[in-house]
Amino acid sequence: MSPRAVDPWVRSIAGFADACTEVEGLARAIRACTACAELAAARRHVVVGDTIPGARLLIVGEAPGATEDAEGRPFLGKAGRLLDRLMADAGLRRDETSVLNVLKCRPPDNRAPTRAEAARCTGWLDRQVTLLDPALVMTLGRSAMSWAIDAKTRLSDVRGTVHDWRGRRLVASYHPSAALRFGPNGEPHAALAADLRLVAKVLACG
Ligand code: SF4
Repeated sequence: MSPRAVDPWVRSIAGFADACTEVEGLARAIRACTACAELAAARRHVVVGDTIPGARLLIVGEAPGATEDAEGRPFLGKAGRLLDRLMADAGLRRDETSVLNVLKCRPPDNRAPTRAEAARCTGWLDRQVTLLDPALVMTLGRSAMSWAIDAKTRLSDVRGTVHDWRGRRLVASYHPSAALRFGPNGEPHAALAADLRLVAKVLACG
């Protein structure tokens, strides 16, 4: 049975989130969330995300790291700087892009989110997507792809393509931390750069 089916937090977060009818009210509800006791006890900030009214592009990553937890915003630090650079190279503007994570609180030691944590926080994320209403969602990394598509799919099988998704467009790609890990000549770096160019082309076409 999936964590969604057995964890009472999953249903109650989805209910709280659905009751929020505007982005700021939803952000206040997310900041008060203590559903994941381990994460809530250790966090410095709940990283709600950068929510830009009217943004046509929404980027979804995995979870805050140490820098994001300290400063309260997503995609800072080395991975964030690489994303900013590759976005600029593709002609995309970070200040015109909403940026969220699957998890709003930092997992200890930057471990991957557990299935239970991701299942809970997905209620907040799903509602953020609905209220922000972007034309195109770009997922970065396995956790975000698992949220949008499923956990069994291989990222390499779905990246580089525009998918129809919940009445919007979806592009899945590698997380910039993978691009950093494999270096500038590695496949994740080239793929992420190419996928950002694909996103820019799709947005330019309306
Ligand atoms: S990770 Fe998400 S569900 Fe868990 S405590 Fe933080 S905001 Fe709540």
